[in-house]
Amino acid sequence: MKCYCICDFKAPLQMMEKEDFVPQGTQVVLDVKAAGVCHSDLHLWEGGYDLGHGKRLELKDRGVALPLTPGHETVGVVRAMGPDAPALDTSKHYLIYPWIGCGQCAVCQRGDENLCAAPACLGIHRHGGYATQIVVPHPRYLVDIGDMDPVLAAPYACSGLTTFSALKKFDPAVLQNEPVVIFGAGGLGLMCLQWLHAMGGKGAIVVDLDPAKREAALQAGALAAIDGNSDTLVADIQAAAGTRNIWSVIDYVGAPATATQAFNLLVKGGKLVIVGLFGGQSEWSLALFPLKAATVQGSYVGNLAELRELMAFVKEGKVRPIPVSRHPLDQADDTLMALHDGKVIGRAVLTPSVE
Ligand SMILES: [Zn+2]
Ligand SMILES: [Zn+2]
Repeated sequence: MKCYCICDFKAPLQMMEKEDFVPQGTQVVLDVKAAGVCHSDLHLWEGGYDLGHGKRLELKDRGVALPLTPGHETVGVVRAMGPDAPALDTSKHYLIYPWIGCGQCAVCQRGDENLCAAPACLGIHRHGGYATQIVVPHPRYLVDIGDMDPVLAAPYACSGLTTFSALKKFDPAVLQNEPVVIFGAGGLGLMCLQWLHAMGGKGAIVVDLDPAKREAALQAGALAAIDGNSDTLVADIQAAAGTRNIWSVIDYVGAPATATQAFNLLVKGGKLVIVGLFGGQSEWSLALFPLKAATVQGSYVGNLAELRELMAFVKEGKVRPIPVSRHPLDQADDTLMALHDGKVIGRAVLTPSVE
């Protein structure tokens, strides 16, 4: 098998050839049909996150060992199963749930493996999908995609799940009756609009600096799209919402400016969910947390049940396909760098050819 690996942080991905994987125990080996290239692969490649206050989160201190095959948005077909794996249909395409935990702790037992303190995520802690083959520890992490195009299905494991899980953190009754304010009209913001529609939400007011992205948000069904640079941002958003009471805000940027603006919008009892990993620091007035009874919650990907729930929406045709661009596996490094340079339109997906 072939894989494209991070051998040094910030160095070009290197092609490595290995023996074909032989599954042990409950493991499943799949031939990779599609592997999405995600912004978090860039953070991995860079080796960390800016935490603000002059600090960095270094991934090498968080169980990330090199060389590593990135890729956590993977669709494949079953190639081989370990002796203890329940039987699987080898003709089907499966989307792989990558946010795997230890499987043993209370958090994992509750079904929130994405929050496990001993993560074993595919493409981060274990080898991922920038490869011709991938190993999955158990068939339960495989979600049947039916007759969907694997390239269209792959990004749901990360960007799809991330946006879906962020919305699941709000009270469904609030979503149905009150508009959500979304900071960031990139790929995540646009996908969020689709879930909101599929879930029967009232709609969203989108804030972005880029006029082209604001236009894309309107095309995707946003109630309004507001320039984040406006001197009267709060008033603009309230006017678009038809109310001063903003209950629900999602920040897909996660920068100091957006997080501060987002928090300042909240009405008493409101909630801000931060998804974006731009980084930096924010200076919220602490007294406003109790005075506004405000909630600020981080959202990191989502759990397996949420992935199954959102794929049911997708299979029912309740969401439009994500715009994607297809790239051969041997262009993995070029594709990652194109994403780094902001040159990717839609979601870039690698399409490994299987020997
Ligand atoms: Zn666990
Ligand atoms: Zn991702």
